[in-house]
Amino acid sequence: MKEFTWKKTFGSCCLVYVPVMILGLLIGHVFVALSCLMFAHILWHYFYLSKLNNWLWVSKSTILPLGQSVWEHAYIGLDHMQTRNSKRRRKLAGVISRFREGAEALPDAVVVFKKNGEIVWCNRLAQFQLGFKWPEDAGEHISNLIRHPDFVSYLQKEAFNEPLDLQSPINSDKLLEFRVMPYAKNQRLLIVRDVTTYRQMDESRRQFVANVSHELRTPLTVLQGYIEILEMNTQQDPMQEKAIEMLEQQTTRMCSLVEQLMTLSKIEAAPTLDFYETIDVSALLTQIEHEAIALGRKKELVIKFNVDPSLAIVGDELQLRSAMSNLVFNAIRYTPDLGSIKVIWKKVPEGAYFCVMDTGDGIAEEHILHLTERFYRVDESRSRDTGGTGLGLSIVKHSLSHYDTQLNIESNLGEGSQFSFIIPKTYID
Ligand code: ADP
Repeated sequence: MKEFTWKKTFGSCCLVYVPVMILGLLIGHVFVALSCLMFAHILWHYFYLSKLNNWLWVSKSTILPLGQSVWEHAYIGLDHMQTRNSKRRRKLAGVISRFREGAEALPDAVVVFKKNGEIVWCNRLAQFQLGFKWPEDAGEHISNLIRHPDFVSYLQKEAFNEPLDLQSPINSDKLLEFRVMPYAKNQRLLIVRDVTTYRQMDESRRQFVANVSHELRTPLTVLQGYIEILEMNTQQDPMQEKAIEMLEQQTTRMCSLVEQLMTLSKIEAAPTLDFYETIDVSALLTQIEHEAIALGRKKELVIKFNVDPSLAIVGDELQLRSAMSNLVFNAIRYTPDLGSIKVIWKKVPEGAYFCVMDTGDGIAEEHILHLTERFYRVDESRSRDTGGTGLGLSIVKHSLSHYDTQLNIESNLGEGSQFSFIIPKTYID
């Protein structure tokens, strides 16, 4: 193909116009000759323009018409553009179909919807699990199909960092976990998973732990009673004394383990919305302070409580007590002699702030993420020596989850630790 330039076009025009002008001069009608040529030139352009128009709007052919000169160039340009666009379309269609195939292969229901709730696409499992009809439901508002009020407020709040558990809209025996993720521009991806078996297993485990701990409590109390009697009647035999002391230590440890397990089960099972009681946090912290001072006396710890007496919250007292006391008693347990512990309870812009700072040994960074797992201990033998069960921070985590907040842990080895949380403003009384 010849390259298009203004110079060439001008040159070819000159090749026609100059001879016609000379001819016009010769016959003495320059103006008429030039006018006729210009008219013919316009007709020539019009002919190719109508050819293009016909191809664009009437003809079904994909092959472009033949053109000449500047029109040949324009037609070829259009042909290139068309090829480029169809390649791009094919690529895009490939990407979309790969995404859909991937989404179909997932073991979860997947729904893509716009920020305003309009459904864009759903996979086959969404039709089974949620009762969607495809393609009939395309463009429907998602909350017209999943009408549960909790789901509607979950969408409105846009707090998608936590999943939402709901009964299946088509089978009330099934429990589904809904997760929404912002996706592409102004789109949302909803992933729904059947968690019925998982939740049932979790509930059985919790029930089992609660029942076993409850059942263990009575024999342990009986054992403790007999150990006390044995202690009183010991015959000054060092062997016997040592054995009874060991018995006493181990039963006390088992008792506190059983107590902690029961507290954890209770907190796990507590309903999230049961918040009607106003807690006098200042009075609660005064009690904890007295217990802390008594516990820390042996180690000569300096314990300071800095409490805002007017700052009260609504909630469940048992859960708040468990969270606060576990953090304070841990600080006492893991701070060496003559150390100091500071406890703060104050109002901050985000809510009510609780913090326990100690000058203990601190915790290495790799352990921090695991501390709230059940039975996780940094140093098992040390924790056992200090009477730890490995459940304290797990209890704290569960208690705080009922207040929609979480535990923050900052610690450096050899420099002490800081455990804190913020109860959101909504819970302040
Ligand atoms: P435990 O009953 O063993 O104390 P926790 O769940 O309360 O169990 O704590 C888990 C682990 O976290 C503990 O074994 C201990 O190693 C570490 N830990 C907790 N609090 C502190 C603290 N204030 N300073 C240092 N280590 C701590």
